[in-house]
Amino acid sequence: MTGRMPIPPPAYTSSEPTPMTWPLTLLSTGFALFLLALIFRPLEMAFPANPGQKLFRKAWRMDLAFFLGQYLFFNGLVLAAAFVVIGWFYPYLPQAFLASVQSQPWWLQAIEVIVIGDFFVYWGHRLQHNNKLLWRFHRVHHSAEHLDWLAAHREHPIDTIYTLLLTNIPVIILGFPMATLAGVVAFRSIWAVYIHSNVRLPIGPLRWFIGAPELHHWHHDRNQHAGNYANLSPMMDILFGTYTCPNHEPEAFGIEEQTSDNYVGQLLVDPFRREQSSQVNDDFS
Ligand SMILES: [Zn+2]
Ligand SMILES: [Zn+2]
Repeated sequence: MTGRMPIPPPAYTSSEPTPMTWPLTLLSTGFALFLLALIFRPLEMAFPANPGQKLFRKAWRMDLAFFLGQYLFFNGLVLAAAFVVIGWFYPYLPQAFLASVQSQPWWLQAIEVIVIGDFFVYWGHRLQHNNKLLWRFHRVHHSAEHLDWLAAHREHPIDTIYTLLLTNIPVIILGFPMATLAGVVAFRSIWAVYIHSNVRLPIGPLRWFIGAPELHHWHHDRNQHAGNYANLSPMMDILFGTYTCPNHEPEAFGIEEQTSDNYVGQLLVDPFRREQSSQVNDDFS
């Protein structure tokens, strides 16, 4: 799981683009690709974690297919699923409590949303690494052997929905306003791309508060239990003893299991194969 939240497509209230919105969806997808490349490619060239890695490295086409799948199709479905779940809870939320949460200053709300979201993502993500069924979907993300801003998008849609709900349902139930959530979701989205980028850029003491590529790269180490399960702040990993940050990059990324070398196989075949990682012990440790 990346914790990366989809940036809402133009017609996020429907489960998929209608014929009228297809041109707009195509346009926004192209624009998002252009913008991400514009932000992250220069950073990767200026501060590379792996200096020898090319833009068109192995499996870039598959990662591009994941990107297009997300932006053209799955983002709409994921958001529609999230709105359905939100609709179930909303009528039961205590109004007085919601009002008190919403009366707090925006910056305090933002910190609370980040901390609460990180807590649930941390434990949910750690569970994905220790539960056979959840790992089948999450291992798609971990199958990437090269990390960069494009590889950040290699994620099974079931994994995306799982993360989106874990991050947002608790704070919605607690009554945080949509404007605060939208701001944090947008920040999480861009940060999730950044931590996968082929960048090593020391940020000094700030690294105790905000996660960096060096931390998430270690999460992608071939050791499935390497640590660093939170995606925004390392605080949860420090608190619960899973923080790891050697001063060099891991020797190799990826997983030990066999995976398909194409998008359709990763999406429709790999999660349903019975083969399991020898590193999944199926307890919540
Ligand atoms: Zn993971
Ligand atoms: Zn990742």
